[in-house]
Amino acid sequence: MRLDYMSDLSKKNIYDFSRETLKNLLITDGFKAFNAQQIFSWLYQKNEPNVESWTNISKNLRSYIQESFSFELPTVIWDGQSKDGTRKFLIKFSDSKTVETVLIPAKNRLTICISSQVGCAIGCTFCHTGTMGLTRHLRPSEVTGQYIVLSEWLKNIEPDSRITNIVYMGQGEPLHNFDNMKEATEIFLDDYGLGLGQRRITLSTSGMVPQIKKLNDFPPVNIAISLHAAHDDIRSELMPINKVYDLNRLLSAIKEIPLKAHRWVTFEYLLIKNLNDRIEDIDALVDLLPPKISKVNLIPFNEYPESNFKKPSHSHILWFHNELNKRGIITTIRTTKGTDILAACGQLKSEYEKLNLWN
Ligand code: SAH
Ligand code: SF4
Repeated sequence: MRLDYMSDLSKKNIYDFSRETLKNLLITDGFKAFNAQQIFSWLYQKNEPNVESWTNISKNLRSYIQESFSFELPTVIWDGQSKDGTRKFLIKFSDSKTVETVLIPAKNRLTICISSQVGCAIGCTFCHTGTMGLTRHLRPSEVTGQYIVLSEWLKNIEPDSRITNIVYMGQGEPLHNFDNMKEATEIFLDDYGLGLGQRRITLSTSGMVPQIKKLNDFPPVNIAISLHAAHDDIRSELMPINKVYDLNRLLSAIKEIPLKAHRWVTFEYLLIKNLNDRIEDIDALVDLLPPKISKVNLIPFNEYPESNFKKPSHSHILWFHNELNKRGIITTIRTTKGTDILAACGQLKSEYEKLNLWN
């Protein structure tokens, strides 16, 4: 049973540390390397933050942990369910800032869409988060915390369900928060931590080229590149980051991504009516992407009241999809179910969404 721990700013949050970092801290303070493993088992496998009950750990280490660390996790302050079963949550941190996290059911899997920042600095013109600017990065404990608190939440609501996959496709640009997302990812993948397989985690990025070049130094999760256009002028209109890191620089950086054991790279392509859904966009995509090995995910644009863009018709989306497939680019469409799911993923906590999408 998880107790409700209050924040104590003089203490470090124990959930902020990967096992490796925690091990180094413990060794510096005179404890043993294997103590990190024991602590991780209690925290993540037994889900027991009450240090008093950590019976295999010496009294001395238990007192040190209680004096040095807080155990704070975020809290769920609102939840709603859409018609297709997707659940959306508003998650609050100790400074009262909030982000959205989404649970997306599909056949044989339950995916959590995690936020990496409060707001986002990239400012994509189609994205609701982009209009908010960046408030702050999330700490590792606030990233893994979304998974931990929702896994607990699920136990009460659907005891047989387990979260199987993670996508970093919520609010924020994960590579802008590289170090914290790296630490959090290590905890997700650690067998003594949350124990997820690397193929079950996908990081989505708007294309921060310097950080893409540093991916060698990031755990080998799948990468999704938000491409959204195959012409520089259109991409720059949608994503201001393209003015600095244009398609040429982006594609060369992607070719260098170390394809460590089973890492997959896919391209996300938002379909916007009369903007990037034309035959010349298909031609440009075919020229840009290496055939056969490139996988494109088409995301029909999800309209919201202030948005300047429109979603193409269903038949037009199918046409775009078939043309790309015919020309050797493996392409999938987010299904109808996925459209409001992705909206939930890419957009944020407006009253509008709460009232209209989630009733
Ligand atoms: N910052 C990262 C990850 C978060 S956004 C990135 O941009 O990749 C996750 C996905 O949601 C991105 O592919 C983004 O383009 C998409 N998205 C944002 N707003 C959307 C909208 N209105 N409709 C459909 N997808 C949207
Ligand atoms: Fe940020 Fe991604 Fe939204 Fe662009 S699409 S503003 S990078 S969250």
